[in-house]
Amino acid sequence: MKQNLDAGAIRVRKMVLLVLLAVSAPLPMLFVQYEEPTTTLVVVKALAKTGSLIGTVLMVWQFILGFRVVSTLFHKDLLWLVKLHERLGAAAILLILLHPIFIPIYYAVKLDINLFALDLGRASSWFVLLGMVAMALLLFIFVTSVFFRKRLGYGRWFATHVTAYLVLPLAFIHAFPIGGTLRQTPLFWYWILLAAVAGAVIVARVLTLFGWRVYGHDVTDARKLAEGVTELTMRPSGRPISPAIGQFVYVRRRRAGAQRPYTACRYDADSGQVSIAAKSGRGLSVRLQDVRPGEHIYLDGPYGVFGQEALRTERPLVMAAGGIGITPFIRLMERIERNPGRAAYLFYGNLRADRIAYREELDALQHVEVVHVISDEPDYQGEKGFITVDLIGRYVREPIAECEVLICGPPVMTEKLENALLAAGVPDEQIHHELFGF
Ligand SMILES: Cc1cc2nc3c(=O)[nH]c(=O)nc-3n(C[C@H](O)[C@H](O)[C@H](O)COP(=O)(O)OP(=O)(O)OC[C@H]3O[C@@H](n4cnc5c(N)ncnc54)[C@H](O)[C@@H]3O)c2cc1C
Repeated sequence: MKQNLDAGAIRVRKMVLLVLLAVSAPLPMLFVQYEEPTTTLVVVKALAKTGSLIGTVLMVWQFILGFRVVSTLFHKDLLWLVKLHERLGAAAILLILLHPIFIPIYYAVKLDINLFALDLGRASSWFVLLGMVAMALLLFIFVTSVFFRKRLGYGRWFATHVTAYLVLPLAFIHAFPIGGTLRQTPLFWYWILLAAVAGAVIVARVLTLFGWRVYGHDVTDARKLAEGVTELTMRPSGRPISPAIGQFVYVRRRRAGAQRPYTACRYDADSGQVSIAAKSGRGLSVRLQDVRPGEHIYLDGPYGVFGQEALRTERPLVMAAGGIGITPFIRLMERIERNPGRAAYLFYGNLRADRIAYREELDALQHVEVVHVISDEPDYQGEKGFITVDLIGRYVREPIAECEVLICGPPVMTEKLENALLAAGVPDEQIHHELFGF
């Protein structure tokens, strides 16, 4: 795999994906027969079909995009894909809601049939019932994702989210026997294609949960970098994963166990050896602290595009790291050391000086100017407080608006700094950030 991702190609692929979406979603509406006795019925029918047809296509897309093994075939910007997946999910649910509202109105007005009065002696009522169950599940996923995501925590939220695996099969089983447009037009074949794609993705997702497409690595070194931060170095026992600068990998201690994303902060292309640095938190990150050399762990990836846009230009580089947010910059700085030529600055914020990770490596840098900023140690002899635009301006010799700025740290730091940089005149396209949670 190429060591540097082409940011231009990534942009083109994003456009292609959006165009595919924009064409495939409304396409089924061309097959709807709009002849009805009154304009009101035409409108009611169009709304009901918008919900079921466009809603289903969007659901299939969001399902595909939520599965990183497939979605990253388009490109590696996983955070962008996850955002698109979330937005499509919300749009699909809101559209699909039109269906249970307008299809009963259509049947009531045109045929005097009450769709809610289910007669379970008739087969069609069972298919209507399946549609209702799918709708109830969708609403459950929507409510838990939008209102309770934080309160549930990632693990419990994920457990509720996997009920989504049932929604699409139920929706297809509901639609094939009773969907008028499907039974009477070639749209049937479009739906067969969607059902086949959704089925394949469901099978692949389940296999992935059980360890399909994860790559075994032997831990060769485990060292403590700072208070609560351990660096693990691993050698591939089979296929190497070849991360580009700034990319991350998913790490599992057991093949089918819990997984978390970590930046590949070192990579040796000759041996395939890769390192991650994990800060102890609550879940898997705590268990990664006692991994020892000789242990076998599992990686999948690489994903992400952080830093790639900045690597394409020769502008002065300003890096702002907070805590463990230093990891994506380690390889970038190694590269600057090997190929000096552009001005580079690292502003590294930590609570206390003993939390500084990669201290020795940072002290040895010749071509990157490093400024430590400590927020919680009153006696610290150096910059105290947080990384701000004013502080950056005191060190960076070039006009800040001409710099390429990369930020990786806690969300509050990222947001505040980004807003201040924009206010200071740094163009949006020169500011890049990585988020350590999504
Ligand atoms: C792109 C990226 C790069 C990262 N790089 C590093 C790094 O180099 N070093 C480091 O210490 N941390 C890194 N993180 C954070 C790391 O993934 C964990 O979130 C962190 O270690 C806390 O883990 P925990 O086991 O304590 O998790 P928990 O407390 O159980 O969960 C903390 C949070 O992790 C996130 N999370 C959990 N599971 C997943 C999952 N399967 N997929 C996506 N997000 C999930 C959720 O937002 C959750 O709220 C990175 C995160 C991302 C998204």
